[in-house]
Amino acid sequence: MDVELISVGTELLLGNIVNTNASYLSRKCAELGLSLFYQNTVGDNEGRLTKVLQDSLERSDIIILTGGLGPTEDDMTKEAVARVLNRPLVMDEETKKRIQDYFDFRHRGTKASKISKNNWKQALKIQGSIVIDNENGTAPGYIVEYHTKDGKKSTSQTKRIILLPGPPSEMIPMFEASIEPYLRKLQDTILVSKMVKICGIGESDAEMKVLDLIDGQSNPTIAPYAKNGEVHFRVTASAKNMEEGNRLLEPILEELERRFGENIYTTKEEESLEEVVVKLLAQKKLTLSTAESCTGGLFTGRIVNVAGVSDILKEGYITYSNEAKMNLLGVKKETLEQFGAVSEQTAREMAEGVSKAAHTDTAIAITGIAGPDGGTPDKPIGLVYISCFVKGNIVTKECHFKGNRQKIREQTVIHALDILRRNLIYA
Ligand code: ATP
Repeated sequence: MDVELISVGTELLLGNIVNTNASYLSRKCAELGLSLFYQNTVGDNEGRLTKVLQDSLERSDIIILTGGLGPTEDDMTKEAVARVLNRPLVMDEETKKRIQDYFDFRHRGTKASKISKNNWKQALKIQGSIVIDNENGTAPGYIVEYHTKDGKKSTSQTKRIILLPGPPSEMIPMFEASIEPYLRKLQDTILVSKMVKICGIGESDAEMKVLDLIDGQSNPTIAPYAKNGEVHFRVTASAKNMEEGNRLLEPILEELERRFGENIYTTKEEESLEEVVVKLLAQKKLTLSTAESCTGGLFTGRIVNVAGVSDILKEGYITYSNEAKMNLLGVKKETLEQFGAVSEQTAREMAEGVSKAAHTDTAIAITGIAGPDGGTPDKPIGLVYISCFVKGNIVTKECHFKGNRQKIREQTVIHALDILRRNLIYA
């Protein structure tokens, strides 16, 4: 079943608000196995909204609209849908009573203030529509089922228009309580998907490795996308039930495992790289300390994202200056003079030094040039050394990152997490 979204609101077109409703609904449609081919954004203009609606009805089975259901003049979503379907707006007595109760409750104990006339606009429904209660506001949502004749085949088709309020705090609970179960009932298949998260390999290299699988795909499908220095593959099977879905996914997941091996850090949708690292440290009962220069605490911040890390992370040092590297970590003056602060030798001494200072089994040390100043032909911007200490063994990696200061620092953190992860697997 093809779905299409229409987000209504001039503030969306002006860039005043981010269209989080569209991203939420898109994710939900994917989860439900509904194909979403178009997203539209229209201002508060009935003519343009009517036109978009007509086009959407031509090509999609379900149209979900958000916004423009409020009491003011510029809220005209219901009016536009009624016009396109050629149905009248009629008073819904239940909604009228709900609005009355809502205002009575809001103004209890005060001198009864009159409900302004335009609020009753929210009690009008498109004739024949299903009214969806709004537990978090006054404007209800609506489902309109609409039968249309397919001229060529002279068969009848049911299309559905779903109207939801704009504020996410009203739209999301309404979607989850009423719309999601409604849409689920329309589907005779479900989508089962797994996220294969990969690290330490670039997006295009990763894609090249599975090009044949992507080209030959039908069910399951593989969709790659790059995310903050990582590559994720969403593998999705359409199936009658969960068991069948998992059975269909299994051979593809095994094939990805064979091709990417240790580059895969998880197949769990919600699991992050830092969670995997902390889990490994916990499983192996190892403690961690950190010494950061150019990342200024970003790495430690990612580790602290994981709840319950206090038994593992002992100390984190931000040693930006040479003095701090010497005084806090015991980096030798000669090392700094001979090789410089951004060097393999310094990174190594930082890792060794911090593990000693904090008495930890493992340590990560980072030193590099994030720019925009400080680069030289020998040591260009983006040069970073990451040193990983695990139970007395030290591995130091020289990295060359591209991008601005922020990007270089973010990539450094991901690489450092990945280096630690790989060194922990066999620790
Ligand atoms: P109201 O009764 O509040 O007027 P409404 O259904 O008429 O609700 P709009 O007036 O279109 O909705 O939007 C109200 C507010 O909801 C916007 O100012 C904005 O903060 C939020 N909103 C609307 N559409 C979106 C969207 N697509 N994504 C995120 N927020 C949105």
